[in-house]
Amino acid sequence: MTALRRLAGPLRSPWAWTLLGMLAPIGMLVVSGLMLLDLRRDAWDKAEQTSRNLLQVIERDVARNVEIIDLSLQAIVENLKAPDLAEASRELRQLVLFDRVVAARDVGVVLILDERGDSIMDAASAIARRTNNADRDYFKAHAARSDLGLSISHPVVSRLTGAPIIVLSRRINKPDGSFGGVALASLSLSYFSRLFDRIDLGQQGTINLFHRDGTRIVRYPTPDPLSAPPPNFIHTTNFQRFLRQDRGTFVGTTFSDGVERHYTFVQFADLPLVLNVAVGTSEIDAEWRRKALVLGGILLALGGLTAGLSLLFGRELRHRTAIEAELARLSRTDVLTGLTNRRGFDEALGPACERARRTGRPLCLLIVDADHFKRYNDQYGHAVGDAVLKGLGRSLSASVHRPDDLVARLGGEEFAVLLPETDAAGAAHIAESIHAKVAELAFEGTGIQAGMVRVSIGLACGPPDTAAADLFRLADAALYSAKETGRNRTCCAPMPERPAVRPRASQGVTQP
Ligand code: GH3
Ligand code: MG
Ligand code: MG
Repeated sequence: MTALRRLAGPLRSPWAWTLLGMLAPIGMLVVSGLMLLDLRRDAWDKAEQTSRNLLQVIERDVARNVEIIDLSLQAIVENLKAPDLAEASRELRQLVLFDRVVAARDVGVVLILDERGDSIMDAASAIARRTNNADRDYFKAHAARSDLGLSISHPVVSRLTGAPIIVLSRRINKPDGSFGGVALASLSLSYFSRLFDRIDLGQQGTINLFHRDGTRIVRYPTPDPLSAPPPNFIHTTNFQRFLRQDRGTFVGTTFSDGVERHYTFVQFADLPLVLNVAVGTSEIDAEWRRKALVLGGILLALGGLTAGLSLLFGRELRHRTAIEAELARLSRTDVLTGLTNRRGFDEALGPACERARRTGRPLCLLIVDADHFKRYNDQYGHAVGDAVLKGLGRSLSASVHRPDDLVARLGGEEFAVLLPETDAAGAAHIAESIHAKVAELAFEGTGIQAGMVRVSIGLACGPPDTAAADLFRLADAALYSAKETGRNRTCCAPMPERPAVRPRASQGVTQP
């Protein structure tokens, strides 16, 4: 219960409400910010996963096709070793050699070249189409090295079909191990276009297949021009990153168009090929950005509304608090004199007595009553009576100087002066000062001149344990005595420790 009350305390302040009202939208913004960050992470994870899956599918398809063609080439090289093959008829040789050659849609030409590069056998016809490929890089490479295995060429234009192709080839050895020619099969680049065509990578997405020496074999969606020699990227930062690991991902800027992309790449296990799938980072973020804009907009509007409302609410609360404080002040203020009224006095007397009891310091009370005040009203009219009352209020206020001293109008022409931490002597001194200041009151044009207004004062000074009611009663009784004994004087209530009161020359300070 106490804890609840302690908690409720600060909530009464308008500033607390304003602060809470501001904190709520800030909290909402923070939570939504975290949510959006999470959404962005999800978008990137999804993009990465999609790229990985794509890469895997493409890698498997390419590797499987290359393997099938290679198996055909190996079969040709193997079959060439068959005894008595040279003596067999051309048709039989054709049958034996190309027995296991696949007739795939993208496998364009399957040829056997002799050691001079001339075509001597052709899977497509009994009489080989005439061509010489001694100038091709793969031919030179096989001639120079017997351990090359499967060679995959750069993209070239087929001399027999005119189509853009890559050439897969294997060396043929003579029985003595020397270079005996090359078995080759061409793979059309349209195979790759068809494979990639089914894939949607957005506006900025690209797929690239490289030879491990940095030469680009295929670029999707915009292929490299056929006439030009294929571009080589071996020295670019991105390609160097492809070579550093077997597979991986990174964000990098594309050398050719300056677009930032998320790259996913793989080096083929047994082939000199590198494949990458790249997606524009702005496209990965696009969906997320749209959500963030909508959500952010709604949140900002809501946050702004909440903040605005709480500011408004805080202002109204402050306004109300100020009005309440003003009403409270007015309810304790006497309208005529501007002094504290009876209610304010009653509220102040109790705590003052309590403080005196606690601190052991003396507390004195003067009750001041105008002498024969009724006569001013009767003689000069009520308005003049009011002016005299105001004058009395001013005289009383001018007689006290400490911030804790309280001057109040109790009602009619009766006033009280509460003097905390003041002993009887000090209180008597103030009473004297009141008599003197009241004696100075003069009201021009009314006939009331200095010395005509007089007051009687009852003084009570309580020892520390005096109750508020007792102190008031004592002061009131002292006032009565002052009236009884001739007015225009101060009468001191009898105290356990009597204050030494200096008698006034003109007005007696006496005790009842
Ligand atoms: P005493 O010396 O015995 O105190 O006589 P008194 O005439 O001062 O006292 P009494 O109680 O007989 O009269 C007080 C008068 O004060 C009565 C009333 O008309 C007048 N009075 C009370 N309040 C006001 C006020 O707000 N304005 C004016 N003008 N007169 C007031
Ligand atoms: Mg009076
Ligand atoms: Mg009176």
